[in-house]
Amino acid sequence: MDLTAGAGSAAQRVSAPAAVGPAIHEGRFGRRLRSLLPWPNQPGDPVGGLLRAHRQQHPRGNVALLRKGYLVADRMHHGQLRKSGEPYITHPLAVARILADLGMDTTTLVAALLHDTVEDTSYTLEELTAAFGGEVALLVDGVTKFDKVYFGANAEAETIRKMLVRAGKDIRVLVIKMADRLHNMQTLAARSPASRARIARATSEVLVPLCDRLGIQALKRQLEDAVLWTLEPEWYARIDEHRHNQRDRAGFLSAVIGTLQSELNRAKITATVTDRPRHYYSIWKDSVAAGHDDPHDLPRVVIVVDGRQTDCYAALGTVHTTWRPVPGRFKDFIASPKNNLYRSLHTTVLGPGDQPLEVLIRTEPMHKTAEYGIVVNFRDPEYTARLSRQAREEQVAWLKRVLDWQSVAEDATSFLDALRCDLTEGQVQVFTTDGRRIQLPSGSTPVDLAYALSTETGHGCVGAKRDGRLVPLGTPLADGEVVEIISENRLDSGPSREWLSFVRTPAAQLQINLWFQQVAGETGGGAAGPDTVAHRVQLGMAALSLALRHRDRGLGDDRLLLSLAGELGYPDQEALLVAVAEDRIPAGDVADRLISSVDRSPVDEPPG
Ligand code: MN
Repeated sequence: MDLTAGAGSAAQRVSAPAAVGPAIHEGRFGRRLRSLLPWPNQPGDPVGGLLRAHRQQHPRGNVALLRKGYLVADRMHHGQLRKSGEPYITHPLAVARILADLGMDTTTLVAALLHDTVEDTSYTLEELTAAFGGEVALLVDGVTKFDKVYFGANAEAETIRKMLVRAGKDIRVLVIKMADRLHNMQTLAARSPASRARIARATSEVLVPLCDRLGIQALKRQLEDAVLWTLEPEWYARIDEHRHNQRDRAGFLSAVIGTLQSELNRAKITATVTDRPRHYYSIWKDSVAAGHDDPHDLPRVVIVVDGRQTDCYAALGTVHTTWRPVPGRFKDFIASPKNNLYRSLHTTVLGPGDQPLEVLIRTEPMHKTAEYGIVVNFRDPEYTARLSRQAREEQVAWLKRVLDWQSVAEDATSFLDALRCDLTEGQVQVFTTDGRRIQLPSGSTPVDLAYALSTETGHGCVGAKRDGRLVPLGTPLADGEVVEIISENRLDSGPSREWLSFVRTPAAQLQINLWFQQVAGETGGGAAGPDTVAHRVQLGMAALSLALRHRDRGLGDDRLLLSLAGELGYPDQEALLVAVAEDRIPAGDVADRLISSVDRSPVDEPPG
């Protein structure tokens, strides 16, 4: 994009002092950030703001436990400074505050206050468990990073895998991680430009899509805006100026809201209409996609109806009879929800003075889900209790799927690659003949669908019918298609090697590879023959990897194995692995020793 031209036109439009140089990085974003930090406003009680925020959503939250968490964290981080020069405790406190504002429960906030103690101080997981219980310990352990010294280049991938496995046990691990990253992103100014860019990219590759999958828009907006502020500071400043210099915007919106409110009243639909400005990142994305140099930012309102789903369509009728709809802009995410369960009607109309206006329509529960996603479970447990079992299962279906294929991924790096692929691809939604709705990455084939249904269905897949007609197994499926998988469950059935050339989903790829490895293993067709030392080393390594996997861990650095071999009196690591293969030393023992040698060593590498 041409930044110079854009900056020039922005300068013409704005008479206020131009935001250039370092001012871009301060600006409103910095001010918004400072208002988030509870520090300067509560000179007496550093946790006062946090407690009040928590009490707003949870009047009976355990304040004493929160204070205890703060005191321990404050003592353990005592004397540590952040790169910005502030006392370290400001970070966990700000993370807890972000989570309190989201409406998370007391346990989450306590874990947030303590989330860096095990990683960055002498505090151990055992001490934490004894003082705060297993639930808080699980959450803290879930966001604790593996040490680069021991896990080498795999540390990052292993850390993400561990985090997701822990999240499978308790989804709050991911919510804490996102708040942690958000605060780190908001305080990136103190770091070098290179590390700022690296952290921002990692955030937009993995954490933002994860946040989207869990439907937590309230956090995702802030994460994305922080990414934009870091990677495209000029665009951020330009959108910020644009937003604050649209004098006619407020007048236009209040006219729109007034008209809509009275038209809805006349139609006897109880609803509230409010301004719903887009966040900066989404303005930037749309502007760049459309080739604009100026921010492309349509006014937008949301209608929240106090009633049932059918009232949304009635409200849509009112909108479309008040102003002319723009063809092709209507989307029904109520009939076809997005994969994160987001539901709403979207339309664009030509409002007063033929100015385009975006309108979102939803019920109160849809609005809650749109804003908080999975967080609703903790913010409003009574609401979740009323959901059907199926609805609750659908909330975490995506994570279950990821955890299924993580258990067969060869190593953490291939797992992370698969995860990135799953997160970045567009999605299609297909239906099985028994009415199940399955989300797949776009470009997926009937074989991908078969493996998404079950591993056995995948291995036994012999044909597929799309809308009633047989199609080749490599045909890409399109959104909305009804697909029937023909699968035979015979002893000699199995995947074809050719499938590897067209499957798109990690699940299918991993299961097909695994099948061939097992067949190759049984017939002795592997790389090493059955009776060689090399084969026994391989077997030992496989047994050890499996034992580590069962403990949610992985091996990143051979040096660790080498030093353990020495400790146990073996000449080298191969000798130790042969001993494992011949069962002279149990794989589980070796795994436990490796893990305790890693956990013993202190780590010092903020932020996460
Ligand atoms: Mn942290």
